[in-house]
Amino acid sequence: MKITPGASAARFESAWSELAGIGRDRRSGGYSRHVFDDADLLLREWFTDQATRRGLDVETDRNGNLWAWWGPPAPGAVVTGSHLDSVPGGGAFDGPLGVVSALLAVDELRSRRVAPSRPIAVVCFAEEEGGRFGLPCLGSRLLTGAADPDRVRRLHDANSLSLADAAKHAGVDPRYLGPDAERLALIGCFVELHVEQGRLLHAADPQAVLGVGSRIVAHGRWRLTVSGEGNHAGTTAPADRHDPMVPAAAGVLAARRVLTGHPGAVATVGRIRPIPGGTNVIASAVEVWLDVRHGSAADTAELVDEIAAELREEAAMEGCTVTVHRESMSEQVTLDVGMAMQLADLLSAPVIPTGAGHDAGILAAEVPSAMMFVRNPSGVSHAPGEHADTADCLAGVDGLAEVLAALAG
Ligand SMILES: [Zn+2]
Repeated sequence: MKITPGASAARFESAWSELAGIGRDRRSGGYSRHVFDDADLLLREWFTDQATRRGLDVETDRNGNLWAWWGPPAPGAVVTGSHLDSVPGGGAFDGPLGVVSALLAVDELRSRRVAPSRPIAVVCFAEEEGGRFGLPCLGSRLLTGAADPDRVRRLHDANSLSLADAAKHAGVDPRYLGPDAERLALIGCFVELHVEQGRLLHAADPQAVLGVGSRIVAHGRWRLTVSGEGNHAGTTAPADRHDPMVPAAAGVLAARRVLTGHPGAVATVGRIRPIPGGTNVIASAVEVWLDVRHGSAADTAELVDEIAAELREEAAMEGCTVTVHRESMSEQVTLDVGMAMQLADLLSAPVIPTGAGHDAGILAAEVPSAMMFVRNPSGVSHAPGEHADTADCLAGVDGLAEVLAALAG
């Protein structure tokens, strides 16, 4: 199957230009789109409009995920899609590429007069990045029961607004958040197309435009709070200080240093918050968020223990204390082997693992799930420099259409 020349390209450019201005920081060029915020509400409107124009039936599920149905919902449905939210200051492709490609793949199938024998649904999962409430894959975790709705309702954003209130504001009743067995029972299989993050596709085959996912490494987030004594930056002698910023800084360095003993592992501090946060104030506490990814959950936890031990040692020398709070943890996920083989065969694409978390990784515990990756030559992601060439994105649409035709035919 080859893509209809021109038509898909024009639809792709048009969708991309409609999305380009939503949630974009003009100075950095990065996108900040978080669940139930103004940008997210505009994206939801955009998706609903796009799907409705195609004659798809759109609904919001009890967890704020959007579904657009081609054919009445029924068990065995082939579901594709991704997410529309971003990390703070993220790129244009992470998430939206999978949603746009799914809509365009439906167009392709129709233009080829493919009549699927199973329903096809395009899904947009809520808060995949956890950029607002700290819990990644929020929508898919709630759907599958992998997140406790009581805990989720109590999550707060940086402005102390609860998720329950934010959901209410967006028209999602927080009382009904939680596992959705009925909906889950409709999903025959799930395919998520995503821009590649990192350069494993290039390493596997420098010519490959598309890749197929094999597994997602274990990953988790921790909040390390270093508590000391707030004081005056000008009048407090060094010996009298219990400055939590000093051990916090040592903790950041430890997160890099411990990696030498763990090949393949990564640990990142991308966010740090001194309390109260004043230039002439010795902080009373510092919160350090740690993102760690490694082969298995046990390996990951071991790495965090090593970092925390170094941090505690530094904190003790400064007269400070440390508490460690795990915000999320996802065990290593093997995507459906049969689907991976089928997709690799259909697309003549290499099969690669990924260090990035995805909704497909959450769904994989319940339904056969697969991932397709579109080449990203620089490997940059979660930053404004994230990029995929239009020709490669169109190859992704073509490939996804082919995959959907095979799965739903
Ligand atoms: Zn993503």
